[in-house]
Amino acid sequence: MLYIGCHLSSVKGFEHMGKEAVRIGANTFQFFTRNPRGGGAKAIDPEDAKRFLTLAAENGFGKLVAHAPYTLNPCSATEKVRDFAFFAMEDDMKRMEYIPGNYYNFHPGSHVGQGTEQGIALIIELLNRIIKPEQQTTILLETMAGKGSEIGGRFEELKAIIDGVHHQDKIGVCLDTCHVSDAGYDIINDLDGVLAQFDSIIGLQKLCALHINDSLNPVGARKDRHAKIGEGHLGTETIVKVINHPKLKGLPCILETPNELDGYAKEIEMLRSAYK
Ligand code: FE
Ligand code: FE
Ligand code: ZN
Repeated sequence: MLYIGCHLSSVKGFEHMGKEAVRIGANTFQFFTRNPRGGGAKAIDPEDAKRFLTLAAENGFGKLVAHAPYTLNPCSATEKVRDFAFFAMEDDMKRMEYIPGNYYNFHPGSHVGQGTEQGIALIIELLNRIIKPEQQTTILLETMAGKGSEIGGRFEELKAIIDGVHHQDKIGVCLDTCHVSDAGYDIINDLDGVLAQFDSIIGLQKLCALHINDSLNPVGARKDRHAKIGEGHLGTETIVKVINHPKLKGLPCILETPNELDGYAKEIEMLRSAYK
């Protein structure tokens, strides 16, 4: 089964996103839990969440991917920024329980000169304060492009974070095709080899979701500029290989390409017809 969708605006609530997803041929989607560049969050309407759960069940939706705000940096050098990461994520975990059993993806963070080791230690510290054994949400670390002092460009860094977390059943990875390519993993010519590396370092059982993006830049560029499918260096062929890869089948595929809804609808239709 292909679970495919795109990033949707959460401003009008869950039921609205669900209807929008159905309208564009999606059976999963991603949304920001709060203002991506600020951090403020609107209260969750429990009735809206319930109506969404019914709609999702009726339409056979796969797991959703919530995305933490970009301003959330657990390994900032500034205490105030680290505190925001804690309070935003703690609040997001409570909010996610209204739609239990889904994913919450975040960018591990930028160590801003403190060094990778210190950065990883701070990320682990945050996750161990946040994760409760009874929570129904799985937190996902996103594979990053390795831009600036970003942590998560190497599979080894993600593995080190996972190793430090106490409740490892609550943590997984979201692989972004643009980011891994930008980080230097050649999924164009050697998707099997990259997945074998992922498997030997992290373990493919930890891979929970995919961000499906083309990249404006060649492998190793460390730029993180997304392109529409077929309009970047990865190309349609690579993306089609990813969604059809036997080791990746069944994972929610989220498009984060520069599109409006009609553009997403076309990409979803194209990828559905390329799914074997
Ligand atoms: Fe992201
Ligand atoms: Fe992404
Ligand atoms: Zn990106």
